[in-house]
Amino acid sequence: MSTLEIKNLHVSVDTPEGTKEILKGVDLTINSGETHAIMGPNGSGKSTLAYSVAGHPKYQITDGEVLLDGENVLDMSVDERAKAGLFLAMQYPVEVPGVSVSNFLRTAKTALDGEAPKLRHWVKDMKASMEQLRMDPAFAERNVNEGFSGGEKKRHEILQMELLQPKIAILDETDSGLDVDALRIVSEGVNRVKETTGLGVMMITHYTRILRYIKPDFVHVFVDGRIAEEGGPELAEQLEAEGYDRFLASA
Ligand code: ADP
Ligand code: MG
Ligand code: MG
Repeated sequence: MSTLEIKNLHVSVDTPEGTKEILKGVDLTINSGETHAIMGPNGSGKSTLAYSVAGHPKYQITDGEVLLDGENVLDMSVDERAKAGLFLAMQYPVEVPGVSVSNFLRTAKTALDGEAPKLRHWVKDMKASMEQLRMDPAFAERNVNEGFSGGEKKRHEILQMELLQPKIAILDETDSGLDVDALRIVSEGVNRVKETTGLGVMMITHYTRILRYIKPDFVHVFVDGRIAEEGGPELAEQLEAEGYDRFLASA
């Protein structure tokens, strides 16, 4: 059982016009096995929240805390955060030139566990996960993110998540750019990892579409750098019908 606690998080970035506060006091707690949907209009700071928890250097934490099982995440390097059990699927994943998917994942797994996985088991696990995600076996030998389609990037993220077995995963717009079939396969992957490992999920999304496949336990409406309203799955249905206007008017 793990818990990610975000307390009164304030985050600023430097812009050409000066320092700008993006997150204005975010409070959010995610336990193992829980799925939290963070929904909000474009530009409300959802990705900033993901990057801040992941340790992206551009984002300056000016106040607040992030704790994973009581440990101060903000004091950790990006690698230490991953080792502690945090997983971030980037909205815009980066290319890693000259490194194959298979080597990249095995290196990441080795770094996390402190020892290399037994090759035989590793190959078997990777093959099984790739089959579930309907990925061509040849994909394992391609360079990371080089020429990946939108759908391939998302599948690769879920493949990573399944093999690295984090405690808490932050998925930023995992649904963007996926057709319905890919969305279903990727969602099934997330659900599988949730069921088998008790993963806690922070699922950031602009649209309610993915929530038909990955059922949230909690929905948080994110507006202008903070959580404006919280509820259960019914809140997502309300947003689908009404949009964010009600929240924007009062922001
Ligand atoms: P969302 O993911 O909800 O669409 P973002 O977190 O990407 O929102 O952005 C929130 C606001 O912060 C936007 O106004 C965006 O322009 C600004 N912002 C985010 N990251 C940076 C950055 N690195 N430099 C300057 N402005 C940024
Ligand atoms: Mg505050
Ligand atoms: Mg975003």
